[in-house]
Order: sequence, then C-alpha cells, then structure tokens
Amino acid sequence: MKIMPLGLSDSLSGRGWGFPSFLLESDGRYILVDCPADIIQRLNGIGLNPLDISHVLITHHHDDHTAGLISFLTAQKYLRLFFDTYASIGSVREGQVVHDLSVHYCGGDLRWYNHFKESLVIHHLSDVPLSLSIVMDGVSQLNLLDNSVTVDLRPTKHSAKCKALRFNDSIGISADTSFDPELIEWLNKAGIIFHECGMGGPHTKITELDTLPKDILDKVNIYHMPDIFIKAWHECPPLVALSELRWYEGGKDF
Ligand SMILES: [Zn+2]
Repeated sequence: MKIMPLGLSDSLSGRGWGFPSFLLESDGRYILVDCPADIIQRLNGIGLNPLDISHVLITHHHDDHTAGLISFLTAQKYLRLFFDTYASIGSVREGQVVHDLSVHYCGGDLRWYNHFKESLVIHHLSDVPLSLSIVMDGVSQLNLLDNSVTVDLRPTKHSAKCKALRFNDSIGISADTSFDPELIEWLNKAGIIFHECGMGGPHTKITELDTLPKDILDKVNIYHMPDIFIKAWHECPPLVALSELRWYEGGKDF
C-alpha cells in the first residue's frame, strides 16, 4: 500500500501548501485521512475526484481536519446524481467506478458526532449513500477494503479526542498530538512514519522529535507545520522534507 500526504501546513497557514490530510492507495482503491477545506482541489490536483474515495477516516474534529467534509459530501451527492453531466465537463472520468463510501470518525467525541449528523440534515445531505460511524474509545482496529487494509488506532495527547493510525503495520500517522514517546514507539512498528510538528502545547516541537533515536528519526516525515517552519526546516536533518506531493510506500527504505 502507498501513502501520499496531501498537505503540509497547519490550520493557520496562508501558503496554500495544503492542510493536513493523506491519501492511501491499495489495489486502485483509496482511503482519505482527514478532510480539510481544500480537499477537493488537492484530489483534483492529482487527477482524482471525490467519487474515487472508498473510506474517509477523521482523526479528530478540529476544523483543519474536517472543514471540507460538508463540501466533500455535497460533491458526493451531486456527482452521483448528475454523473453523466459532470463527466461531460471533466469533473469525473467517463466510466469511472463509483465506490461505496464510508466515513469513520475516529476521534470518539460523541457530542461532535451527533452534531455532525445533524449538520448533514441541515445541508440536505441525509440522502447521500453513506455509511457513517464513530470509533469510540476502546476500539483499536478497523478492517477496510474487504479486510485487505487493517488500521490500528491509538489515542493521542491532544486538546480534542484524537487517534493515531497505523495501516497494515507499514505506515504510521501520528495525527495531532503533543510529544508522546510511547505513541512514537507504537508508530515505530511501521516502516514509515508521518508525524505532526508544531509549536508545542498540544503539538510536538521539532526539538522534541530531534531527541528520538536515529533509527526512528530516519523513518519520520513531519507535517502539520506552521509557515515559519517551512523556511528553515530543511536545516533539521535527519527529518525528511515533504517538499512535494509524492507517493511513499510503507516499509520501503527512503
Ligand atoms: Zn490539526
């Protein structure tokens, strides 16, 4: 399986380099991790559209990870309803397979989940063919895409309930978290790790990541960065710059 970070920046970025989200590909099917405001543009930028997505995993309910959900589901509704029209103008591909869609809210905050379900009604989206679920505390694994993808989940230390994700024990995503060596040890089972990086508080400082053993640091790619980092962070080896959209494969040595 492969992963592509769709955005590098944190919620307050003004650079247009994408808010935090990831695309995973397995046998031609796609899983989206988080759904920020720019998600449709980011998918279009790599030749995909919302109908390509089979599963959306939401790590937590903060706006930089969910602000695109209503737009994404609105696109799902209308691209399905008027597929031929949208195919004729290139918004979808002629003859593309339209997948069933599942949205898994992994954060586990029941109040937000219920609010989100109400917002689907308000936005006239209750008729979108959608399997919607909440991953409560205590649930530690999801099986997706006919059980070909196993997702292990682990709560993080963040200001909102949030879960880190590990795909097929090969690709790890920290999601938003303050520095948590036990979480990083859990992620270290994967061959490649994407770790958030911010200014401290409920986020992880780059100086904290820099204390990790070299064998772990060699696997770590940082994302969710404030704009101020991006000027200088190439000076922080051995962390690897996500300087452009590209696919990474779990377990492969980069
Ligand atoms: Zn965030």
